[in-house]
Amino acid sequence: MKVLVVGGAGYIGSHCVRQLVAAGHEPVVVDNLVFGHRKAVAPEIPFYTDHLGNVDAMRKILSEEKIELVMHFAAFAYVGESVEKPLKYYDNNFIATLRLLEAMLAEGVKKFVFSSTCATYGVPPSLPIVETMPQAPINPYGQTKLDVENALKALAHSDGLSFAAFRYFNAAGAATDGSIGEDHNPETHLIPLVIDAALGKRENIKIFGTDYDTPDGTCLRDYVHVDDLSRAHIAVFDKLATPGTGCFYNLGTGTPYSVREVIEAVEKVSGKQVKIVEVERRAGDPPALYADSSKAKSELGWKVEFDSVEKIVETAWAWHSAHPDGFGD
Ligand code: UDP
Repeated sequence: MKVLVVGGAGYIGSHCVRQLVAAGHEPVVVDNLVFGHRKAVAPEIPFYTDHLGNVDAMRKILSEEKIELVMHFAAFAYVGESVEKPLKYYDNNFIATLRLLEAMLAEGVKKFVFSSTCATYGVPPSLPIVETMPQAPINPYGQTKLDVENALKALAHSDGLSFAAFRYFNAAGAATDGSIGEDHNPETHLIPLVIDAALGKRENIKIFGTDYDTPDGTCLRDYVHVDDLSRAHIAVFDKLATPGTGCFYNLGTGTPYSVREVIEAVEKVSGKQVKIVEVERRAGDPPALYADSSKAKSELGWKVEFDSVEKIVETAWAWHSAHPDGFGD
C-alpha cells in the first residue's frame, strides 16, 4: 500500500517507515524537519518538507503520490512546554491535524492511523489501563491528542473515514541494526538520559521523586519498543478496509518498571555505574501508568517482541553508544 507518513523523520515515524518497507509497503514521507532528522529516512524514499497544515501542499502530495492511507506522527510532545505554551500545542497538534484531514477528505483518502497517547487518560482510576477507562488529560498535550481522537470519531460518522488511534505508553529503544534511534533536542526521556550519564555526557541522572506509593518509591512506567509500536500500525491495515471504522488501542507491554529499575537495566547493559541524584517530584507525573494491551493482541494479533526493559535498553545503548551525537545534524 502507498502510505503517507507525516512526521516520518521523527523518532517513531522513522522506525515505522522502515517497518513499512520491510512489510512490502511504499512509504512517502512528509516532515518539516523541525524535530525530524533527514538522515533518519533512507534517501530512496520520497520526501517532502511541507507543513502538514498546508492544505494545498498536502492535497498535491496525496494526489500525485496516489496515497491510499495516511499515518500521522507529527506532533509537539513536551508535556511541560504544553502547559507553558498551550497555543503552540493546540495549533500544531490539533488545528494542523484538522487541516491534514481536510486535505485527505478533499482527495478522497479515507484511511488514517493516528499517534495518540496514554496521556489522554490523565490519572487513571485503576491499573492496568484499559481503553474503555475515562479520558481526562491533565495537560494540554494530552488534551490536543484527545481532541483529535474525538474529531476522528465525528469524521468516521460524517464522511466514512476509517481510522485507528494508538495510545502509546513509553516509547523507547532503537532499530536493532543500530541504523536509527532516538535523537530529541532537548531530551527529556528517562532511558536516553540515563544512557547519556553512562556515556559520561551528563554528570548524573536525577530521580524525580522517591516518595511515591510504589514498591521502591519511584514512578512506574510501561516502556515499549519503538519497533513493536510500529508493527501495530501496519497490523491494523485490514481493519481499515471497512469505511467508517474507528478503533482505539493501548500499546504497552503491560509490565511496569520503576525509575530505579530502568537505571539498573542501563547499568547492567552498559557495564557502567551511573551517579544518581534524588530530587523533588516532577510536576504532573502520575505515580504509575501501565497498559492492558489485550485488545491490540486479540484484534490485531499484535505481539511484543521486546518483552523486558533490558532488551529495549540493549537496542538503545547500541544506538547511543555508536552515535553519541545522534544524527549529528
Ligand atoms: N524521570 C526521572 N528523571 C529524568 C527523566 C524522567 O526520574 O531525568 C522519570 C519521570 O519522572 C517518570 C519516568 O522517569 O516517572 C519516565 O519519564 P519520561 O519523561 O521518560 O516519560 P513520561 O512517562 O513522562 O512520558
